[in-house]
Amino acid sequence: MSDHRVGRIRFMDQQRVNLDGFAHEDIGLGLVALHSPHDPEPSLVVTDGIVVEMDGRAAGDFDSLDSLIANHGIDVSVAEEAMALADVALARMFVDPAVPRDEVVRLVAGTTPAKLAQVVALLRPPELTMAMTKLRARRTPSNQAHVTNLLDDPLLLAADAATAAAYGFRELETTVPVLADAPSNAVAVTVGAAVASAGILVQCSVEEAMELEMGMRGLVSYAETVSLYGTESVFVDGDDTPYSKALLAAGYASRGVKMRVTSGAGAEVLMGGAESCSMLYLESRCVSLARAMGSQGVQNGGIDGASVAGAVPRGVRAMMAENVMVMARNLEACTGNDALMSESDVRRTSRTLPMLLAGTDFVCSGFGSVQRYDNMFGPSQWNAEDIDDWLAMQRDWGVDGGLRTADPDEVGRLRRRAAEACRDVYRWLGLADFTDEHVELAIDATGSKDLGNPDPMVVLGAAQAIRSSGLGSLQVARALQECGYDVEAGRVLAMLTARVHGDHLQTAAIFDEQMRVMSLVTDPNDYAGPGTGYEPDARRQAEIDGIRQARGVEDLRVDQAQWRTDDLKVVGPAAQGSDPREVVIGLSPGVGRSVWRTLSGLPVIDVLRELLAGLEEEGATARVVRVNSTLDLGLVGLTAARLSGSGIGIGLQGKGTALIHRRDLPPLANLELYSMAPIVTATLYRLLGSNAGRHAKGATPVPARNPYTDEAIEARYHTSVISLVALERACVDRAMGVEDIEVRR
Ligand code: CA
Repeated sequence: MSDHRVGRIRFMDQQRVNLDGFAHEDIGLGLVALHSPHDPEPSLVVTDGIVVEMDGRAAGDFDSLDSLIANHGIDVSVAEEAMALADVALARMFVDPAVPRDEVVRLVAGTTPAKLAQVVALLRPPELTMAMTKLRARRTPSNQAHVTNLLDDPLLLAADAATAAAYGFRELETTVPVLADAPSNAVAVTVGAAVASAGILVQCSVEEAMELEMGMRGLVSYAETVSLYGTESVFVDGDDTPYSKALLAAGYASRGVKMRVTSGAGAEVLMGGAESCSMLYLESRCVSLARAMGSQGVQNGGIDGASVAGAVPRGVRAMMAENVMVMARNLEACTGNDALMSESDVRRTSRTLPMLLAGTDFVCSGFGSVQRYDNMFGPSQWNAEDIDDWLAMQRDWGVDGGLRTADPDEVGRLRRRAAEACRDVYRWLGLADFTDEHVELAIDATGSKDLGNPDPMVVLGAAQAIRSSGLGSLQVARALQECGYDVEAGRVLAMLTARVHGDHLQTAAIFDEQMRVMSLVTDPNDYAGPGTGYEPDARRQAEIDGIRQARGVEDLRVDQAQWRTDDLKVVGPAAQGSDPREVVIGLSPGVGRSVWRTLSGLPVIDVLRELLAGLEEEGATARVVRVNSTLDLGLVGLTAARLSGSGIGIGLQGKGTALIHRRDLPPLANLELYSMAPIVTATLYRLLGSNAGRHAKGATPVPARNPYTDEAIEARYHTSVISLVALERACVDRAMGVEDIEVRR
């Protein structure tokens, strides 16, 4: 099909974005983002405090979703006022900083699913971002990580959980490739999390009965995989109803397990049950259900259906609108960015950036803190490959995306303690024995492929032992203490104590590292326009700003000093040359003092030897001088040219930029210039030397082609250039004159 297309189109076809699937809108299949002609018109009739009609349907015709929403999900005391508002009037309240969050929440409580969907569909992308900034429940943003691996290896899980906590994630979610391994994964992640921080919430997402059992035993501290759908047929296909889900949710909460439900655009389409409605309307029903059943929060924004939503026009916008509906219904928002929506780095960044800028309760409902191949939920929108990008984006915009830079030494220390603690606990509980070699591999592993081939029966055996013995987190705490991990034992115990208090069951609750609950109650979002709401405090801003790659002049001075050599020696003041074969090489002021190595990585001494060899090839005699009065390469070269007997000089800056000059030219002119210092090679410097020699004797130089790269060479080197210039600037001395330099060959 493409063979008759021109090269430009064939080239574009090969770009990564074209690995993604894109669909035409198809209303019959529910492949439509914001509006379908089959979405009901909003309506609400309340008689004697009872909803008798909702969104065009009479109470007698309600399905199970309608009845749960009508009976428990709508505040009838405000319904008349809210439903009477024009959609656009309510939509404006979402973004108007003069309208407090509480007022929006109060009114939205009286809206039906169809009404709320129509209102948020009016919000354009920057307005969705504004609405999110104002309407999220918790003031302080946070983030959630996936911690999994292909092998369910406990030591690696523990080390990776500690790593994730070190990077700032406050919820860790694990799952399994092998269902029966689940209890072992829960224990391993709990131990690893406790090594790095107090108050990390841990989840193990598996089949409902086993997950609930682990929750009851305290092996996990939150759950979020109670799935809701926007049509009754999809519930029934899964042998469920909204009421059975409500019961399950209550089961978790009754034991002090934090619980949120999961929904998201595209799920009904994937199951063939969208009933020709738009994704946004169906999701609005899910969010209303979450409110009705008493869940404290919702994980939505596509999730498993993200690529379906992403395939249709305005789908990414609909996913963000889903999140805003959750916030407007006063629930915790765990905002998608979970399943990888696109193979294109540009598209996935485009989808996530507004949420990172706005800040949400959990910006990613599953950032893969492990490598893509180890993410047993399937690759996330963001994975270990992207942690440094995330940290850089936070820093670029000065926003809090929930993560922080972890000190590399500290990561090493935590991984060791986590792997060792996990090994010791498994041994003490009689679950498994791991070798020292396995511990070392887990500490250093970038992923499970670095572990070799451990016996899978070991994990399975441990998991079965945990399940059959009835072991819970109290025993895990005891084991930690018996093995000498008192702090970690205390942290595991503290999570059990928190269940009795139940403060973390409040909307949007996380624990900070001092085990203080931050929630809608204790840390409410108070955004009301510029100058209000969440800003990182000075300590947090320093964490955001302090990425490990940042460099300053002092870092560069230390780097440069490692290349110091005795092969450059000052001889004395430089005199005027008279030999017509002489070419003078002028060095910038920092060379041989604080600058020793060029941006290309070649030591300056090696560059000089190449230049000298090139001159020698052409029969020129050479002299090296240092021009102390100026940083300007043209003037350095011109000064050298004026001192040389031939009138030809070479200028060389410490960073490696070089040129050939002649005594009668203006300073800004030159005969040849190597401007791309980072990619100039030894061969090119030799050519520059020999060409200077040819100029000196009146021969024709060989044209030198400046090297070219399509990489972001300026982004890579400009901070080094600034520091190098600062080092050279400090060496400028106008009174010192020009010195002859001896170069040991
Ligand atoms: Ca999640």
